[in-house]
Amino acid sequence: MATCPVPEDFFKKLSDKYEVAEKEQHVVFGGSSATFETVEDHNRKFHLTLLQSLNQRPQKGDKNDNPFAKPEPELTILDKFGPSDEFRVVFNKFPLVPRHFMIVTRDFKSQNTPLSPSELSATYSLLVALKKQQDRDWFAFYNCGPESGASQPHKHIQFMTLPTDYTPLPDRIALNSHPFIPDTKQEPLQDGDLPFAHFIARLPDNFEDVEEDDLVMYFSSLLQRALTVLRSHEQSHISYNFCLTTKYMLLVPRSSGVFKDTLGINSCGMMGLILTKDDNDVKIIKEVGPATVLAEVGFPSTAGEGTDEYHY
Ligand code: AMP
Ligand code: AMP
Repeated sequence: MATCPVPEDFFKKLSDKYEVAEKEQHVVFGGSSATFETVEDHNRKFHLTLLQSLNQRPQKGDKNDNPFAKPEPELTILDKFGPSDEFRVVFNKFPLVPRHFMIVTRDFKSQNTPLSPSELSATYSLLVALKKQQDRDWFAFYNCGPESGASQPHKHIQFMTLPTDYTPLPDRIALNSHPFIPDTKQEPLQDGDLPFAHFIARLPDNFEDVEEDDLVMYFSSLLQRALTVLRSHEQSHISYNFCLTTKYMLLVPRSSGVFKDTLGINSCGMMGLILTKDDNDVKIIKEVGPATVLAEVGFPSTAGEGTDEYHY
């Protein structure tokens, strides 16, 4: 099992601390003014969240104005975490979903770097602890690179609960497939119903069997596929969304962080959870179709294409 010790009372700590942080307004919860609807496109359902009141979240952070250099103590759940205490676990200050939290590196590391073995195993270990300690489905996500929808340059991996009444886009193909075996002729999964390039690795059935080395091999196999797509479209940057559950990982190469210059899409969008800030965004998404929107900010599907010696 990918071991990175997580306190046995982690979920209790998370809940207790969140309750106080929200009550005392250290966390600015935006979810109470949000409305939800489901939109169908390409045979799939998408979960739209409409947030009428624009929250006070900074649009773009930079290294000098960096909220993760010294996170607020009221938002800090674990001040030291990870195999070498290299991370902090902190709340997202502007959540739409209660208890939305993040792993941030204690020292500055760029959000443009791939996930390291310890980052992967710390992330997976937290997901496993949450699964054992609470009866909700969580996912972790990492928006990597300038066109991934990230707003902060300091490395952070986020954790959110999934809506209870919604099946995320990767579930259908991932949950009906055998575990991925990297370094064989087996290709990562790609759902032919979806028009955008995306790569899925099903994890072993027993989440206790997953080792750090497995996570690293799965991640690098998916990243290779994304790099091939980025190169074939002559991109000058490496941007992708990465999502992890205890059952699968998903990696989606990105061409743009925003659709039509206004609608920001990040990893949540690639799970089918699309956040909109006004009625006009909702209108555009319905006209264009949410799956097409995702294809516009990603790349065309490569399902069924296979690999050759020119692929990474
Ligand atoms: P991303 O936009 O994916 O880069 O994620 C960065 C997240 O950091 C955003 O979701 C913000 O809500 C959150 N954030 C911004 N400022 C702070 C802060 N001072 N403390 C904690 N989280 C913050
Ligand atoms: P944004 O202003 O796009 O960064 O989003 C505001 C907050 O909601 C951030 O903390 C995001 O990480 C988070 N978020 C982004 N997309 C979604 C979504 N579809 N559902 C719930 N929260 C989201």
